[in-house]
Amino acid sequence: MNDQGKLIVITGPSGVGKGTIVKFLLTNNPQIFVSISATTRSPRHGEVDGVNYYFLSRQKFQQMIEDGELLEWAEYAGNYYGTPKKPVIEGIQPGKTILLEIEVLGARQIQKNFPSATRILILPPSFDELETRLRGRGNDNQEAIVKRLAKAKEEIDVKDEFDYQIVNDHLQKAVNQVETIIFS
Ligand code: 5GP
Repeated sequence: MNDQGKLIVITGPSGVGKGTIVKFLLTNNPQIFVSISATTRSPRHGEVDGVNYYFLSRQKFQQMIEDGELLEWAEYAGNYYGTPKKPVIEGIQPGKTILLEIEVLGARQIQKNFPSATRILILPPSFDELETRLRGRGNDNQEAIVKRLAKAKEEIDVKDEFDYQIVNDHLQKAVNQVETIIFS
C-alpha cells in the first residue's frame, strides 16, 4: 500500500471528547481531511447523510464488508460503524493527511490493515467524569449510556496498545498535544 500521506487515528471511549478535538483540529488546519464513516445507526437530529456519516441499512453495510470496501469496521452499541477504504487510499496517495475518528476495536484493526498509521487514544480524566459527560450531552437513552460505559471500560483497558495517550482534562491542551503529534 502506498502511504505517502499520513493516516492519523483518533480513538477513545464515547463521550471522551474526540469529536470536539477533531472539530478544532479541522478548523485550525484546513490541510487535514476527515474520513466520513458508514454506519447503520439512525441519524440524530441535525445529522446529514454524506456529511456526518453515510447512513446505511444493515444489508448494505454487510455488502460493503463482504466486498472488502471497509478499511476497518466494528459493531458498537448495537450498530455497525466502518471506514470506507477507497477515499482514504485516494487521499493518502497524493500526500494528504487523513484523520479517522473511530472507536477502539476499529483502531486496533488499523494496526493490522495500515501499520504506518499513527494511533492516538484520548482518555477521560476519570471514569466518573466520562459518565457525567455522556449523561450531560443528552444524545442517548439509559440503555445506550449503560452500553457505552461498559464499552468504555474495555477500551480503557487496552490503552497501552496505542502510539500515544492523551488525557482530555483541558480541551485546548489536548488539541495542542494532538497537533504536536500530527506535525512532528
Ligand atoms: P456515535 O454513534 O456517537 O456517532 O459514534 C459511536 C462511536 O463510533 C464513537 O466512538 C465513534 O468514534 C465511533 N465511530 C464512528 N465512525 C466509526 C468508524 O468508521 N469505525 C469505527 N470503528 N468506529 C466509528
